[in-house]
Amino acid sequence: MKYADIIIDISHERLDKTFEYIVPSELENQVTEGVQVVIPFGQGNRAIKGYVVGLHDKPEFDVTKLKPIARVVKDSIAIESQLISLAAFLKRNYGSTMNQALKTVIPIKKKENEKLKKEISLAVSLEQAKIELTELLTRTNHAIGKERLLRELLEVDVLDWDLATKKLQIPTSNIRDLEKKGIVRIDSVRTFRNPHINVDDNKKIITLNDEQEAAAEEIKADIDTGRHKTYLIHGVTGSGKTEVYMDVMEHVIKMGQQVIVLIPEIALTYQTVMRFYARFGDRVSILNSRMSPGERFDQFERAKSGEISIMVGPRSALFTPFANLGLIIIDEEHEPSYKSEVVPRYHARETAIYRASLTGATVILGSATPSLEAYSRAVSGEYKLITLHSRAMGQAMASCEIVDLRAELQSGNRSMLSNRLKELMADRLAKKQQIMLFLNRRGLMGFVSCRACGHVLKCPHCDVALHLHSGGIMKCHYCGYTARAAKICPSCGSKYIGSFKAGTQRLEEIVKETFPGVRVLRMDADTTSGKNGHEEILSAFAAHEADVLIGTQMIVKGHDFANVTLVGIIAADISLNESDYHSGERTFQLLTQAIGRAGRGVEEGIAVIQTYQPENYAVVSSANQDYEGFYQQEIAYRRLLAYPPCSHILGIQVSCDRQQDAIKQADILAALVKKCDPEIVIMGPEDAYIGKLKDVYRRVIYLKADEYDRLVSVKDAIDKFLLEQKQYRNTTTWFDFDPINTL
Ligand code: ADP
Ligand code: ZN
Ligand code: ZN
Repeated sequence: MKYADIIIDISHERLDKTFEYIVPSELENQVTEGVQVVIPFGQGNRAIKGYVVGLHDKPEFDVTKLKPIARVVKDSIAIESQLISLAAFLKRNYGSTMNQALKTVIPIKKKENEKLKKEISLAVSLEQAKIELTELLTRTNHAIGKERLLRELLEVDVLDWDLATKKLQIPTSNIRDLEKKGIVRIDSVRTFRNPHINVDDNKKIITLNDEQEAAAEEIKADIDTGRHKTYLIHGVTGSGKTEVYMDVMEHVIKMGQQVIVLIPEIALTYQTVMRFYARFGDRVSILNSRMSPGERFDQFERAKSGEISIMVGPRSALFTPFANLGLIIIDEEHEPSYKSEVVPRYHARETAIYRASLTGATVILGSATPSLEAYSRAVSGEYKLITLHSRAMGQAMASCEIVDLRAELQSGNRSMLSNRLKELMADRLAKKQQIMLFLNRRGLMGFVSCRACGHVLKCPHCDVALHLHSGGIMKCHYCGYTARAAKICPSCGSKYIGSFKAGTQRLEEIVKETFPGVRVLRMDADTTSGKNGHEEILSAFAAHEADVLIGTQMIVKGHDFANVTLVGIIAADISLNESDYHSGERTFQLLTQAIGRAGRGVEEGIAVIQTYQPENYAVVSSANQDYEGFYQQEIAYRRLLAYPPCSHILGIQVSCDRQQDAIKQADILAALVKKCDPEIVIMGPEDAYIGKLKDVYRRVIYLKADEYDRLVSVKDAIDKFLLEQKQYRNTTTWFDFDPINTL
């Protein structure tokens, strides 16, 4: 006998509120997770609909009190069924409770949505309002709130109530006063908060070139003949992948279906989003991580109601409740941000392919530097590989020079800028062309250490270095702990203690010293903290308000600057030295993307790669723009050491505020793994990369296996064990399949 957990209202905040029912044997084949069923409910056995969210062999409640499921709702293509099935997929393949999985895929209706939104606007003409303001200003003791409101309304047509009262701190009484006097009006509106964007009219009409045309035709032909596949478009930077996506999107939308476009958050810029708006108008909606849960909910409602056909957004846009989904596009498929950092730690690529399989949708992955995972599957024929070899408008790829920093050092140049790079910079500045200087994010220093003994000042609650901030404050970026900057080394008493300046900041100083009068913009975590920080800096650079843009990897994503003819990569190997099997791949991707920023316009571009390892294959193949060559070396290395995609890894993390308990529990789990699958390779337990975080100790175990499902079985066995275990209930365990970052 089987038993089913049934959820009745999935828009309810408490998704774990389920009811147990018996699965009658004649329905056993049809009842699976996600299926909609009719059940007798309550005293009167009212027939109502619910969804199956779990199945098990042992009942949790008294069997004599359980009722049987009445029937399965036939052909229920309800979007809810799909989403629940998706949640079951996440739970099974990535490890989480059903509740966590459901919360990941289904946006929760919060009370705030039911409340109407209030807006303030002028009830009088602009002239009248100006007169009111002038009058107000003549009074000596006028209410500053009224002044602020009037000034604001002279600028914008409508002002959001919350914005006015909270951000602008205009007292409610001031607004009400002006309302009474008939100067402003307050309206309650039920609006779907679509992030508003003004579409500019200078739409470019683009005709696909031959390569693009062939790519789009191939996919469209497959769609028309009902062959739904996964495609990998490998196209060099600037090859016009987005135009291919849009062509296929249009085709799918004409068929009455919907499209999800995933873009990494960092590339979700005005420029990219505008291209979709310009082409598809208000059939497009956007999600971003800055949205409140209410705003996200609204966007999902619009998708459900058929008001929009295209959702553009990061990872989580994958769960947009489109009823008739025809296409999922994952741009920059190799981006690590497609892997969730919270439980369930799903990967958008696999999840997208699963979601597409539920409705027979097509998946297009695109990248200039495909992940090893995707490319190996394209090579094996599991995905269809489509290659765009040349740039859309025939521009040459930037030429590339490698500068050996060891030789530079020997010749006495200790600056961050090599002589060759300086020479080229001078040339470009003279020609009024622009330059981008790229410093790997991991190069950001800012931590405080002792130059006498090497001691690094760490957070007392976390096993990480403290960072120096302005005003002589040291701060932990993980828990927020702050302390006054130390004057002497707590370890050896030396006074030679100090911080290494953030790399980008130091670089900016050097550039300014070397080229007096040069206009520099810097883009890093410090300069982009404001809501539109990125946009402002990038638009300023696009408008040629600066000659040099200095930045971390943020600057290499998806931006076209036609006037940039020189890209300098300051220290290519920083990312090579990470203790992670992805480091070669990451370096290749970053370098390729950085090089791709040069020469997007008519002028030819040059990229200079400064490195201490000029012979490293990731450096050499990116300089040669040779993805294939890189892939062959990298996949050989992965095969040799049995790393993904040539095998699979399961990371298990055990955490506890009592160090001893974390250690013991991790040992217990490792022993359990050995017992239930003696063949599996076990590494650890050992301390996590950050062994202590916010006073919680963390241990990790890594398992390696050829088949993914073997790891899933181990995960299930651990889950079952944890459910019944009486000891160490103060510990927390979670799973990470094929982790992207070191745990
Ligand atoms: P990718 O995503 O492959 O880096 P994009 O789609 O962003 O490339 O295209 C790069 C630039 O080339 C964009 O400015 C785009 O408008 C332009 N472009 C792409 N295809 C064409 C085409 N067929 N004709 C003219 N311009 C094109
Ligand atoms: Zn010291
Ligand atoms: Zn801390």
